[in-house]
Order: sequence, then structure tokens, then C-alpha cells
Amino acid sequence: MIQPTLSTDLITSDILPVLSKSKVARHTYLDNRVTKSQRENRRTRSQRARERLQTKEHLSRLAVGLGEVELADKLQRCHSRLSVLTCGRHIARIIPNFTCEFRLCPDCGRRRSRKLQSKYLPAMRAFMLHRKVTPVHLVLTQTHRKENRKQSAKRIKDSFTRLQRRGFWKEYFKGGTWSLEFTKDKNGLHHTHLHIIGFRRKFFDIELLRGEWLAATGDSHVLNLKPIKDIAAGLQEVVKYVSKPLDIRRFGAADLKEFLGLKNMRMFGTFGEFRDFCKGFEPSDNNDAMSELESLARDLVEGCACPQCSAPLFDLRLSKSELPQFYEQIESSPPGKVGTSWN
Ligand SMILES: [Zn+2]
Ligand SMILES: [Zn+2]
Repeated sequence: MIQPTLSTDLITSDILPVLSKSKVARHTYLDNRVTKSQRENRRTRSQRARERLQTKEHLSRLAVGLGEVELADKLQRCHSRLSVLTCGRHIARIIPNFTCEFRLCPDCGRRRSRKLQSKYLPAMRAFMLHRKVTPVHLVLTQTHRKENRKQSAKRIKDSFTRLQRRGFWKEYFKGGTWSLEFTKDKNGLHHTHLHIIGFRRKFFDIELLRGEWLAATGDSHVLNLKPIKDIAAGLQEVVKYVSKPLDIRRFGAADLKEFLGLKNMRMFGTFGEFRDFCKGFEPSDNNDAMSELESLARDLVEGCACPQCSAPLFDLRLSKSELPQFYEQIESSPPGKVGTSWN
């Protein structure tokens, strides 16, 4: 059964680049983790879809091993059958039969990060306009200690709270968003980073900020600061860690067990003046590209013209393993030629 309530979340990113008529500027950071994400972006859709399948299979196996049968079953059912609205060459919308909502599920993570983007992007744009601030992407790091994921996350969040209380921070920043990123090194030590989109009131010397971060953490001055040129791309970059908090393919049973213990840990949030601004913010319907795209895709049904080529859309029922194949067919079909084998 198709759950109609899900459809609003499922505007595929496939449709976005053409509709927005401009390529989203990819944003780079000095950080080497970013090179990894750029590599990911170069992978084709079929490769990424196949990787999502493998990740879910891997998680499901780990869950079975831990006796988490219900979780394994949910992961198996999540996106197992799909209703794909397509013209044969483009995908306008994908509606899954079921979504597991598990935090590490790559399909559910994608939807969650799209939701965050459409929720916060209009507020960010309005905030920048009204408060005359410019966005920066700040990555805060801490020293590595023998501690579990929960302790590591609490330590960096506490340090960030202390940073926000300092006069320097109040003078130069007007709030923003934070997201947590977890990695683990080969010695098994947790590396937890905070990715901040900070709204900066004016320029400052980065060495001053390093000193402030050292004062807040007691032992770390390591951070990375980059201006954000395109707020949509900047937000997309930080919500990625919400959808993909870890390198799950290197995940073992113990990691999953630990992660299940983190159930209620928040991975994304707002802070400072931006947080208050969001509470009272009502997005207007007409001047936000994101919501226009959303409502456009939401209204499409079988027989409507494909937004990208005007060919009629039809509803294609696929199983989870058929989706990567369908992407492959789209990728290999020459422009102008509509794939027919799925009709
Ligand atoms: Zn899922
Ligand atoms: Zn089309």
C-alpha cells in the first residue's frame, strides 16, 4: 500500500537541478573528509542507489546478529517496493511502500535531510536579509580521548555551549545551526566534530577564534572556517551529516549496539538569535524556490507532462533491487531516446 502522507517528502533530488536552472555550487572545505564527499558526488545515481541497498543489507545483518529482529525487518521493508513517477528518462517522484525511520537508514536519512533543508533554508535566507549577517561554515574539533560516542558528543556540545557564552562569540556571531559528525579512527577512538553554520556579523581574526575555542575546550584550538557563498549548498553540506552520520559500511555489531543506545541524541539543532528567529518565522509561499519545487512535484500524477522533457509521466512499480537498474538504464540511454523496456 502506498502511504500518501509520504509523498511530500519524496521529491527526488533528480528533478531539482533542471528546475532550479542553475547548478548548485559545490562548496569545498580544507578538510580531507570533504574530498570524500566530493567523490561521492561524482558517483552516478545508480551507483549511489546500489550503495544504499548494500548499506541497508549490512545494517540488517548486523541487527539480526544483535537479536534486533524488528529493526532488521523494518530495514528490509523500507523502500522495498517503489512507485516511480517517470517519463522513462527522468524521475519526477518516488513513493516507497514503507519507511523505517531508522537513523542510520540511508534512504530515510536522505528524506530527513531534504526535510531539514526545506524547513531551514527559507528561514536562513530571511535571517540573512533582515539581520545583515553572512554565513560561514565552522568545523570545531576536539582532542581524542578514550570515551564512548555519547561522552564524546556531550564533551564537544558542552564546549560549544561555553564558547557561545563568551563575549567574543556574542560580539561576532548571531546564532546558526549545528550538526554532529562522528568518525572513528583505526585505533577505535571517536572523532566527533561539530559543523556549524554561523551567521557572522563582521570579520575577525581567525586566531582569536582559535584562542576562544581553546578556552572553551581547555585543550583544543583546531577548527576550520570557510565563508559560505551559496547558503543552499552550505546547508546541504551540513545536513549531510544528519543523513549519514557515520561510515556505516565499516560499522561492526558493537558500533550498531552503541548507536542504538544513542536513541534520543540530537544530531542537528539551531542556536542563538537564529533559533529565536526560526520560532517566529512563517515562510511565505511564493518567494521560496524550494517550496515551489516541492508543491510542483507533489501535484504531479500519471499523465502529467514531465517537468524536464514534457513527455507524459507514467507510474512504474519497482522492487528495491530494480531501482539501481532503472537508474542505469536512464544513464545509458542517449539523450532524446526514451527507454521502453520498462513500459
Ligand atoms: Zn528507512
Ligand atoms: Zn522527462
